[in-house]
Amino acid sequence: MSKTIFSKIIAGEIPADIVHEDDLVVAFRDISPQAPVHILIVPREEIPGVDFLEERHREVIGHMLLTAKKLAHREELDEGYRLVINSGEKGGQTVDHLHLHLLGGRSMQWPPG
Ligand code: AMP
Repeated sequence: MSKTIFSKIIAGEIPADIVHEDDLVVAFRDISPQAPVHILIVPREEIPGVDFLEERHREVIGHMLLTAKKLAHREELDEGYRLVINSGEKGGQTVDHLHLHLLGGRSMQWPPG
């Protein structure tokens, strides 16, 4: 199976603006930011998406959320921010490697498009 673009970033094969990495996740700035702060939190394991999560992924899912909270406050998003996971084609997912979007630095609209 060919690697996703995010696995190539995690492997250091293509460049990215990495803001955090640890043993479970890597976080980098989105190449096409939809807000002044737009960071992707990506598990090192190439899980294709939410529909592919299993019980054994509990730790990494929790860690993704805790990392998002930490990065939000490091980016001074103390007035609020949005976390998004797109799932599947109609959910707007374009990269088949689970990722959590952290968006902030502007007021968010509801409902999202
Ligand atoms: P999604 O549409 O939820 O699958 O999100 C995929 C995101 O990955 C989009 O917001 C893209 O802008 C972003 N993206 C795609 N390629 C790269 C890249 N090479 N570096 C950083 N972000 C990327």
